[in-house]
Amino acid sequence: MSISISETIKKCQHWVSTGKTAAAESVLDLAFPPSCALCNRLVSPGVDFCQDCRVSLVSSEFQMRHCCLRCGFPLGRPVINENENSAGPIAPTGNATPSSGCPQCKEKTFQFDGVIPMWTYHGLVCDAVVASKYVHLSPLAAALGNRLGRCVANRLGEDLPDVVTFVPSYFTRQLSRGGIGTATLARSVGESLGVPVRPLLQATRKIKKQAWLDDDSRLHNVRDAFKIKRSYAFGRSPNLLDRHILVVDDVYTTGATVNEIAGVLRGGGAFRVSVAVVARAVRAT
Ligand SMILES: [Zn+2]
Ligand SMILES: [Zn+2]
Repeated sequence: MSISISETIKKCQHWVSTGKTAAAESVLDLAFPPSCALCNRLVSPGVDFCQDCRVSLVSSEFQMRHCCLRCGFPLGRPVINENENSAGPIAPTGNATPSSGCPQCKEKTFQFDGVIPMWTYHGLVCDAVVASKYVHLSPLAAALGNRLGRCVANRLGEDLPDVVTFVPSYFTRQLSRGGIGTATLARSVGESLGVPVRPLLQATRKIKKQAWLDDDSRLHNVRDAFKIKRSYAFGRSPNLLDRHILVVDDVYTTGATVNEIAGVLRGGGAFRVSVAVVARAVRAT
């Protein structure tokens, strides 16, 4: 006797509602075999990417373990946390504390306290990041977010953020992409950390794609382009006062967008702003 897909789903929903999730999962795995979130090749249950994609995606992971605690630039050597004199979780550095030894940020001040990059922006990672922006490919964004969450947990240890949020898109871009890809990323990061995810910010106007612009134009492009949603604004409850906020984005290039957002969050009372990104562009210094 054959049963239809809709009957299978109904049966599984019943099992889930009665607590028989393992049974539901194994039947769903038979009806819809798990596939690689990037190339659709079949994979084992519970596996996000196939072997080939995984090797290509994570090839820069080791390099990023030794990155600048402020800007995420790979330094090619173990990182010393200057605040604790040992490698380990980032301590709040304050937005004006310089970082010795990093060629990318020693002259710069930031509004955020530190960047946690998972991979460098190269090869298959670029394809994965671009594809994850489209909400109909949200399983890919969810798989990337899950891995990013584990990366954040490794870096921050028990010093986790109070709230996770994401870089918002202007509503016309949300319409063209079917939603906000970074929201799906952030949701998975929050689930993986056990930290609430809140849409704290909104884009106040349309901005050009940063990738099209030079460094100075990027700063100008995002200036005053974001604000805290009224429901989270200073003086209302719940607000950001004295909170540690983690901002999730897909790519870090010059940091102009997340720096602007970190300034807005600090203006709303945040005590500390960390940034987590799937990939960091690495330019020659
Ligand atoms: Zn694959
Ligand atoms: Zn740096």
